[in-house]
Amino acid sequence: MTTHDPALAHTIIVNTCGFISTALDEAVETILDMARYKKDGACQRLIATGCLAQRYKDDPDLVNSLPEVDAFLGTAACDQIVAAVNGKDATPLTVFPDPNSRGFQNPMESRALISTGFAYIKVSEGCNRHCTYCIIPTLRGLQRSRPVQEICDEAVALVKDGITEVILTAENTTDYGQDLNTGEGFHTVLEHLSPVVKKVNPNAWIRFLYTHPKTLDDRVIKAVRDHDNVCSYYDVPIQHAASSTLKRMGRPYTQKELADLFKRIRRIDPDACLRTTVIVGFPGETEEEFQTLLNFIKEIQFDHLGVFTYSDSDDLKSHGLKAHVPEEIAEQRHDTIMAAQASISEAHNHTHVGNTYPVRIEETPEEGVYIGRTPFQAPDVDGVTFIYSEGLDTGTLVQVKVTDAFEYDIAGEKA
Ligand code: SF4
Repeated sequence: MTTHDPALAHTIIVNTCGFISTALDEAVETILDMARYKKDGACQRLIATGCLAQRYKDDPDLVNSLPEVDAFLGTAACDQIVAAVNGKDATPLTVFPDPNSRGFQNPMESRALISTGFAYIKVSEGCNRHCTYCIIPTLRGLQRSRPVQEICDEAVALVKDGITEVILTAENTTDYGQDLNTGEGFHTVLEHLSPVVKKVNPNAWIRFLYTHPKTLDDRVIKAVRDHDNVCSYYDVPIQHAASSTLKRMGRPYTQKELADLFKRIRRIDPDACLRTTVIVGFPGETEEEFQTLLNFIKEIQFDHLGVFTYSDSDDLKSHGLKAHVPEEIAEQRHDTIMAAQASISEAHNHTHVGNTYPVRIEETPEEGVYIGRTPFQAPDVDGVTFIYSEGLDTGTLVQVKVTDAFEYDIAGEKA
């Protein structure tokens, strides 16, 4: 039996992230927080899985500094979880298979979901790229694309179970198929998935995240435009806009190529909503390079934008680059971009006032108030839509007329 209340759980599994230092800190905090249920709750086994464990698998401090943990499982050890749960070992169990051996979710096995109405599906695992600031290829292996049929089977099973938004993810969704040599690309996934999802539920949406600017091509953009159940939502993490910084980052494109890409997306799919993510304070980032990034953001006018300060670690190639940027300058640059984006985002949101959009209802924080999302708002990272109405059901789709706009959110009434 599963429970989401850690005080009641006999086994607690903490799935960790190991990408940047803040995520590592958060993972350790969560492990320590859960460890107290070994004293105050019913917990007998505490298991740490995922990237934190994988990243420090050869570091004896991993086991020594977290003695409360009974088992550490790497990114490819999913099939060892049952053994780890049942284990009675006095010393911590450590299992770190080759990340390249990690399989995919069996589409025939049902999944326990903690989200309301949406579910993530991985279209591929791993990454063949070499961004100098990124540890992911080491932790998750080379790219392995999943057969299109399997992606469709998993989506259909989820939609039959009541999921109304299927979100496709990967390290880079648009790199899909590069390892298959069959000519299939991410557009193939969208073209096959759209009709099978529509057949089960004509109101279910498909969204995809984490595209790569180099492989987000016209075939993908046209597939989005031509399939009305695929959200015209383009998450394109550019990381920077100055060509010189991009080169040091190991990102294989230039500022001009990025500008052309966003123009092309808007030309082919005029409904496009653009999201990006950038890093400031990357080693060697000059004031001029930073201004190039800021001006680019103002020029493109992204609907949504996330900004991170560079996170250093001695196992990264970027660690060896010259002229690391002092933390306070990186923080200032972060705040400057956030302030610029707040104005851009608010202006975008005001353009929605008076329009009517489909909104998926997800929460009821208080009577007469609902929280939902439009196709141009992804869960967890973007703003939301507040709906002032009565008698709506969570999980349903309603038409909402937008009456108000804020920096990140919009609000409206049932149309
Ligand atoms: S493409 Fe993404 S996952 Fe791959 S190395 Fe670069 S940042 Fe990491």
